[in-house]
Amino acid sequence: MRDNVSPQIEPLEERVVFTKEMKKTHTILFPQMLPIHFSLFQRCFEQEGYHVELLTETAPRVMRAGLSHVHNDICYPAILVIGQMIDALQSGRYDLERTALMITQTGGGCRASNYIHLLRKGLKRAGFGGIPVISLNLAGLERNPGFNLGFSLMRRLVYAIVYGDLMMCLANQVRPYERGSGATDALIAEWVERLQASFLTSQGFRRRTIQDNLSGIVRSFEAIPVEGPPKTRVGVVGEIYIKYAPLGNNNLEDFLLRENVEPVVPGLLDFLIFKCDNRIEDAGLYGTRKMTGLGSWALKAYVCAWQNRMIEAIKRSRFRAPKPFASTKALVKDYLGYGNKMGEGWLLTGEMLELIESGTPNIICAQPFGCLPNHIVGKGMIRAIRTRNPAANIVAIDYDAGATRVNQENRIKLMLAAADTSGTQDQLHRL
Ligand code: SF4
Repeated sequence: MRDNVSPQIEPLEERVVFTKEMKKTHTILFPQMLPIHFSLFQRCFEQEGYHVELLTETAPRVMRAGLSHVHNDICYPAILVIGQMIDALQSGRYDLERTALMITQTGGGCRASNYIHLLRKGLKRAGFGGIPVISLNLAGLERNPGFNLGFSLMRRLVYAIVYGDLMMCLANQVRPYERGSGATDALIAEWVERLQASFLTSQGFRRRTIQDNLSGIVRSFEAIPVEGPPKTRVGVVGEIYIKYAPLGNNNLEDFLLRENVEPVVPGLLDFLIFKCDNRIEDAGLYGTRKMTGLGSWALKAYVCAWQNRMIEAIKRSRFRAPKPFASTKALVKDYLGYGNKMGEGWLLTGEMLELIESGTPNIICAQPFGCLPNHIVGKGMIRAIRTRNPAANIVAIDYDAGATRVNQENRIKLMLAAADTSGTQDQLHRL
């Protein structure tokens, strides 16, 4: 029999608060996820008076720092994000008395809501327990007197996501065909500067100005000289960090470009709308507070309106436009209930269905090894999707500290080999 002794439970960490004074003195470090969007986010924070630096280090020591300070049973994105932060603090580049960290919290039931506690535990073990950590969340989970996600910052971030989604969508359709190497990236850098300048005046927040910017971005991408026949398109879906972050997916987009295919990556707006939509669905499914549902309804309507304007701007050009959120949601109806919201929830299945419907049946479902929610709505749905969509050519790729890049890339190559013989998107269009 076991001894009747209470288990040793570690006390909850004492939180170091980010004060108003720190807003003036501290540099806030936050980890890279989506290169275009996050460079715009950085400018948004700076315009609100924060001094922010994006962490872009991807050397193998980042993963080693994560594995040294986070339990290796924890999700791979947590290991990488926390590793990137601890690696930065250990680099000697920052004055530790004047450095803070920022991390997102989804507010859902998934482990992503708990990364912040793992980070604080890891910081303490690494000797950085005095560094304040700011939670960036929409659910009011933690507050800091020196950081305010108010209307002004929220508005900037929403527009940054709209611009970021637009540029990512267009860049993926131009980069594989550009005549002058680097032209697409140079144009993105130019627009990031122009958009930052437009946020400096109230003019930059007028609906007319933003719509003009959307049209201007589309026209300028259309003007990049391109060449060559259409390439096989490959969709990338999965857990949000692994899907987007080059550190998480071993530079998947670069690999796909080297394999001579055109990557198609769904935007971030859908995820933001999905998070609002969950709260509205919760009110119906579980009787949660109607007022929470109302706030989410208003934010959802606002973001959906901007997504539609972005789609309309793309439709006026030669580029393929993504589908609006409502249409992606409708596709899932016969596959999953809308209560499936952990991780990427039903949105992951919806993104695969949207890709197939829009002529991109070749799909990589990228997820962390052992990510239960996304294995259910990702890998777990592949058979059901294939049964109803025989042209679907989906491969699930796991990313983990123990997984080798060569194995991941070989599995993708096998999928691409099948793509060449099982039917391209053009064949699908003709069906
Ligand atoms: S979605 Fe998966 S990887 Fe991401 S936090 Fe949740 S369990 Fe971890």
